[in-house]
Amino acid sequence: MRHLLSTADLSQAEAIQILDVADQMAATQKREIKKLPTLRGRTVVNLFYEDSTRTRISFEAAAKRLSADVINFSAKGSSVSKGESLKDTALTLKAMGADAVVVRHSVSGAPHRLAHAGWIDGTIVNAGDGTHEHPTQALLDAYTLRQRLVPDAIGADLKGKRVAIVGDVLHSRVARSNVTLLNTLGAEVVLVTPPTLLPVGIDHWPCTTSYDLDDVVNGGHGDLDAVMMLRVQRERMHDAFFPSAREYSRRYGLDARRMNRLPEGALVMHPGPMNRGLEITAEAADSPRSTIVEQVANGVAVRMAVLYLLLSGQAEGKDA
Ligand code: ASP
Repeated sequence: MRHLLSTADLSQAEAIQILDVADQMAATQKREIKKLPTLRGRTVVNLFYEDSTRTRISFEAAAKRLSADVINFSAKGSSVSKGESLKDTALTLKAMGADAVVVRHSVSGAPHRLAHAGWIDGTIVNAGDGTHEHPTQALLDAYTLRQRLVPDAIGADLKGKRVAIVGDVLHSRVARSNVTLLNTLGAEVVLVTPPTLLPVGIDHWPCTTSYDLDDVVNGGHGDLDAVMMLRVQRERMHDAFFPSAREYSRRYGLDARRMNRLPEGALVMHPGPMNRGLEITAEAADSPRSTIVEQVANGVAVRMAVLYLLLSGQAEGKDA
């Protein structure tokens, strides 16, 4: 595997390998000295054209814990604001000898272009492209699910687990990446969304769909192991997709009343950033079922695993 662009590129064995290595990385993060010498002398560039809190900090922490040199590039304050193209920026990074470029871009497909246009020699890691994919988010979600739900986690898949992904599926790269990866790992997924936020072509996705959150929470599609709430992505909405915020929360929000109807042990997840009070109430977000803070912590271990496997050339397969 040379790049990580999409969860669709991962076989089940590759996905499990990443989760297993993440487990080892997580163990090193409990030590007093968290830094490993593995990527000493390598350069990782964080190329962020879109805002990010968790993902950027997490990739930075992951690269630094592996002793790589990290260059943070954000479009604001760079020559991008003077109109420099992605190609010219990429050529600059090539000249600086970047071994890996972690890229976030508002345009779907931008990481793919960087990986295949020949502008850069290094490995490309997609850190979120438009409404397309966010593979490391899906990997950290799968890691969190496996750690919480599967007793002997190492080497295990997610067979028999059932996850509901709820909300603004249309604009969500997190939903896309998760549906593919969870399916690869053997889990069942039900998407719950208002009809207006259901993407075209959903019939080809490996999941079922519902417009009725109460029915899904009550077990209408089988007992749930986890509910993953999605952020309502207002910055990508150029039309009115639902009548009002209140109406959205009433039908598609996770509050204590709905949460308490979930089977015992079912998890509440959210990739962040949360719109508290819109898609999730504080009671649900801060409940003992919630893995939201854990997901952030797991993100560092998972990104360490991804960088390690890509840069040390130890991943299975060739050019995924
Ligand atoms: N942080 C995630 C992303 O970048 C989810 C979100 O923004 O809602 O896609």
